[in-house]
Amino acid sequence: MAYPELKYIKGIGPARAKLLEEELGISSCADLLRHFPSHYIDRSRTYPLNSLSGEMPAVQVRGRFLTFTTQGEGAKMRLVGLFTDGTATIEVVWFRRIKALKELYHTGKEYILFGKPQEFNRRWSLVHPEIDPPDAPGASEGLRGVYPLTEKLRNRGVSSRNIFTWIQNALNTIGTIAETLPQEIISAYGFISATEAMREIHNPADNASLQRARARLKFEELFYLQVNIQRYSNRRTEAARGVRFPRIGHFFNSFYSQVLPFPLTGAQKRVLREIREDVGSGRQMNRLVQGDVGSGKTIVALMSMLIAIDNGCQACMMAPTEILATQHYESLRALAAPLGINVRLLTGSTRKKEREEIHAQLLDGTLHITIGTHALIEDNVRFRNLGLVVIDEQHRFGVMQRARLWTKNAIAPHVLVMTATPIPRTLAMTVYGDLDVSVIDELPPGRKPITTLLRFDDQRMQVYRAIGRELAIGHQVYIVYPLIQENEKLDLKSLEEGYSLIRETFPSYRTAFVHGKMKPAEKDHQMRLFAEHEAHILVATTVIEVGVNVPNASVMVIENAERFGLSQLHQLRGRVGRGAAQSYCILMSKRKIASDTRKRLELMTTTSDGFLIAEADLKMRGPGDLEGTLQSGIPFDLHIANLATDGQIVQIARDAACRLLDSDPTLSHPAHAMILPELQRLYSRRFDLSRIS
Ligand code: ADP
Ligand code: MG
Repeated sequence: MAYPELKYIKGIGPARAKLLEEELGISSCADLLRHFPSHYIDRSRTYPLNSLSGEMPAVQVRGRFLTFTTQGEGAKMRLVGLFTDGTATIEVVWFRRIKALKELYHTGKEYILFGKPQEFNRRWSLVHPEIDPPDAPGASEGLRGVYPLTEKLRNRGVSSRNIFTWIQNALNTIGTIAETLPQEIISAYGFISATEAMREIHNPADNASLQRARARLKFEELFYLQVNIQRYSNRRTEAARGVRFPRIGHFFNSFYSQVLPFPLTGAQKRVLREIREDVGSGRQMNRLVQGDVGSGKTIVALMSMLIAIDNGCQACMMAPTEILATQHYESLRALAAPLGINVRLLTGSTRKKEREEIHAQLLDGTLHITIGTHALIEDNVRFRNLGLVVIDEQHRFGVMQRARLWTKNAIAPHVLVMTATPIPRTLAMTVYGDLDVSVIDELPPGRKPITTLLRFDDQRMQVYRAIGRELAIGHQVYIVYPLIQENEKLDLKSLEEGYSLIRETFPSYRTAFVHGKMKPAEKDHQMRLFAEHEAHILVATTVIEVGVNVPNASVMVIENAERFGLSQLHQLRGRVGRGAAQSYCILMSKRKIASDTRKRLELMTTTSDGFLIAEADLKMRGPGDLEGTLQSGIPFDLHIANLATDGQIVQIARDAACRLLDSDPTLSHPAHAMILPELQRLYSRRFDLSRIS
């Protein structure tokens, strides 16, 4: 059954429908129903005014207004009502719609107020509370939802109470909501129906009913996310057939015995074993290797490519930037060339003649390993027999982009994705839901842990003296500023000031300068100056985050560290500590920072465990920020599930999604008829965005 249009819901109308769309992205009844309360007030519990404290969430109080007075003038004008229940008197304050409110509420009459108590000038107050007359329907029963609103909606007089009423009106108009989960799943997990869940989430009778509704809705949200990811996974389709690499041969063995400059770590060996099992199985491998910066992913990638070559196939490796591709090319060629392996570099700036040569060698099969950027998978690049694609540090590669790689060969090549962003398991299951995951959780021996220090702006001179000492013994230094962003002008100014200050402070050293707004050629030039030790200091924004390897750099100073997410700080820190010298990461911050910000920064000084840091980041800041780092193209605007705390439900939802697709890969069984339309509704807008041209 189709829902009525939003504007036809009682109480909404065309103007408010437009406002809801602009402010909350609510453009249909289905969207409105999924605008869930952010929290609930227990209506059966009224707090005496003399018991208010700052620790309380929003509470319900009951009493009468004694007086109303307007205070201040112009934009600062406010309406203050003295409100009492006999145990104490508080102030109720409004900054907007004063005239209308004065007419709406009267002294002497009883009201129920909802709001979060605040203490101001030793007096308790409620600012812009929600107000009900005591005879309002449902007063003193159940839990009352508090709906997220925007400033503009409030200014236009839309309250949480209005949203509640509109949703109730919509539910009454719709009656029974079409079921969005297959009956087999509802029965298997004992869920309540879609109709019950919607009614109870918006107007729960009690806590138990709220929990039932939440369990079902969280599951549903995560389930659809998983179905969406898993159906692009080729595990269960014809494409799952992979090139079989049955043997380990000459190249792998001679590399292992003659070239490999160090013994592999236990973790590297384990991951290689996992890869060998995959590629030997006859199924196509789609595997993610997670390993902290410096854990030695490159060697694992190379050895995997050698297995491909041993089995008569070609391999390629993709990096997100030219400079990274070049670095990989240089180090891999040095390792592979002694074995007579043909390794070449293909990027956007490869000259035409050379490019043609590479294209020809790819087609006739004489080119074994190609390293490059995106240029590698352009349509005109064709391989004779591509067996393995390695994607390094390439978070921009979503499920669908990977799927495109499969068409590069008659039988889909194996895909190995390497990432240094340690992400918590629940998030990995979501972002990389179609991949099997291997973890390199051990650093090569002999690494000196990086010393991380938190320093404040007033300690800058001391920090510069330390930098001076490192420069004097021939080391290099990174100085990183936050990405130029919200306040572009201000950020650019602080970056440029930082750059001049560094040049003035260290006039005898050369300083390179990079930021994201530069032309790519200039950026590349500046990065090269630093990579080739022509420059001693690099002042940069986070453009350096991914991959660059300058083992001689021993100091990383991060300015405005309080503005970075923990995972991002961790990534940045990984740029140092790559050589033999003791390395330092100095987090610079204002002295005046919120206590939880300080806690975050202090966590960085005490641990170098990327997974622990990622978990903490997810808990403290939510997955939205990780998305910035991952840019995975997976929608994260979950309405009710929380990837930080609902790990178990993620797992259950994933299993359920896999089972469903195993039994009905095309989702065409009549019992599953609701799934495709629901996917369409949920993700259609995003499909177009994430599709690569
Ligand atoms: P990442 O995982 O960050 O890509 P790399 O593969 O670049 O790390 O490796 C970092 C450094 O560690 C390289 O110089 C590499 O040669 C070295 N390395 C890798 N594996 C080992 C090992 N088992 N023992 C000693 N050094 C190693
Ligand atoms: Mg690497």
